[in-house]
Amino acid sequence: MGSRTREVVKKRSAWLMLGFLCLFAAISGRLVFIQLCRADEYAKWAEKIRWAKIRTLTARGSIYDSNGHPLAVSIRTCSIFANTREVQNVSLTAHRLSALIGGDPKNYRKKISEGRGIVWLAKKIDPRLGDQVKRGWLVEKDGRKRYERIPGIGVWFHRKRVYPAGPAAAQVLGFTNINGRPLAGIEWKFNDILANQDGEILAEVDARGRIIPEAERRVLIEPRDGKDLFLTIDLNVQHIAERALTRVVKKFQPESACVVVMDPRTGEILALANFPFFDPNSALKFPQSTWVNHAVASLYEPGSTLKAITVAAGLNEGISPSSVLARCTGREKIGKNNLRCSLHQPFLHGHGSVDMQKIIKYSCNIGAAHLALRLGSEKLRHYEEAFGLLEKPKSGFSLEAVGYLPKADRWGTVGLANIGFGQGIAVTPLHMASVYATIANGGVRVPPTIVRGTGSHGKMMARLKKPKPQRVISRLAAAKLTEMLIQCVEGGTGKNAKIEGYLIAGKTGSAQVADSGGRGYLPNAFVASFIGFAPADNPRFTIAVVVNRPHGSHFGATVAAPAFREIAQKLLWYYHIPPQPSNGGSVHEKKRGSKSLA
Ligand SMILES: [Zn+2]
Repeated sequence: MGSRTREVVKKRSAWLMLGFLCLFAAISGRLVFIQLCRADEYAKWAEKIRWAKIRTLTARGSIYDSNGHPLAVSIRTCSIFANTREVQNVSLTAHRLSALIGGDPKNYRKKISEGRGIVWLAKKIDPRLGDQVKRGWLVEKDGRKRYERIPGIGVWFHRKRVYPAGPAAAQVLGFTNINGRPLAGIEWKFNDILANQDGEILAEVDARGRIIPEAERRVLIEPRDGKDLFLTIDLNVQHIAERALTRVVKKFQPESACVVVMDPRTGEILALANFPFFDPNSALKFPQSTWVNHAVASLYEPGSTLKAITVAAGLNEGISPSSVLARCTGREKIGKNNLRCSLHQPFLHGHGSVDMQKIIKYSCNIGAAHLALRLGSEKLRHYEEAFGLLEKPKSGFSLEAVGYLPKADRWGTVGLANIGFGQGIAVTPLHMASVYATIANGGVRVPPTIVRGTGSHGKMMARLKKPKPQRVISRLAAAKLTEMLIQCVEGGTGKNAKIEGYLIAGKTGSAQVADSGGRGYLPNAFVASFIGFAPADNPRFTIAVVVNRPHGSHFGATVAAPAFREIAQKLLWYYHIPPQPSNGGSVHEKKRGSKSLA
């Protein structure tokens, strides 16, 4: 090797060395930069790749009727979306989606090409279809089949609230919105029990985003299913009540109407039906006015059905049932007020000498007014209160109304007389159902309830605390009043509720609708009602039918009593209660099924 060649090699080595030095410096610089300046950012990035947030889907608690039939359940469903920025071939994507989940590919194409960002392509569909979309599209490459993700298409699994009984007991149940938030009814009131919490975990994933089994996991939110709720509603009784209500609505086109069926022995609400109807499966498509639970939220003037309390007070205060309270000629001036009785055969010229029996049997206003005057306002108010009219029933519903009754010292003679026959006081149909349930239960009031207990997986585990029963009138007073209510059905204004072979107790009511703007009443606006119980000698159920502003008739006897009769007849069959041989309607010597309370 010559000296010249050696010189060249030396030079080249030097250059090479310099090159290496530069490269080394650049790499070190970069490393130093990463280590010193952007370490946090890169650490976060690495963490992000290694860890993924995984959601665990939980379910809102179900609602069941007293026989375990589901009234509200949450089912697994899914929605399909496109992230338009990631979709690669719009036509191909639309075609593949259509093949996997059905639907017109043209629609998908339009939605993807016209939308920006996240676009919903299908909502609340069968979750099995979602599983298919998630798995991807089957492709064959080199003789091997494998699934390939459809770029830009995602699946969101969630829950959907379903009400299997459709419109049945809709105002009782209420409903939830698309995000599972409760908006009305039991769903709203008992949300604390029903609400669920989807879980969230951080799990280690591989490069393809799959969870690494046995790797570390961190629980961010503990998943929790909602608890189930068991109502006192019996879906069969509910259907019976709603069918009768439908018939009333067809015949009399009222503005609203409701039926309450209670078990007087337990206070349990067996059915609660409201017209107008709506379907909680699509609640937002119905006007808000249909969501109202009139039976618990709307006040009305009870009219003649309230005479039962006036007479209960009279009997409990020791006034003899045969004591003559008034001589009714059909009209009478009390204070500044002209009282009238609604007169029918054979009393076209007044009810004559009126005792408590006649007040109930023929619905004599003048007799009830005189009984109220005899009792005095303090005493009468005491009974209205004892029967629970002036408080919320606390039955488990939201938006329960409190009965309205002015203070006793403001009634005056006219007010007292009016309240005696059910005017100047406002209550809800549930209040009135509870009054008759108390009479049916031998004078012991068991406040109404709608929820029986809580549980999980369709099984009741815990009973809700029951309200305390309270004696309102004596057993004897209740028995005497029951006999009068039987007479009302046997031969008085309640004849349309009569069922051959059974003792039915009940009372009609026809009250004018008070003008909300001030004093007085609206012309031709009435509430027709019938409330009663059966079998009267051992009551199993109390039924209240209240029809607001019916057309064609305004009499409780014509509008509401037939519906009561229909429901009562079907319930007697449903509970296998055999007809009884004629026994003259005497109940007070019989052993009653109610709890004995002094
Ligand atoms: Zn009269």
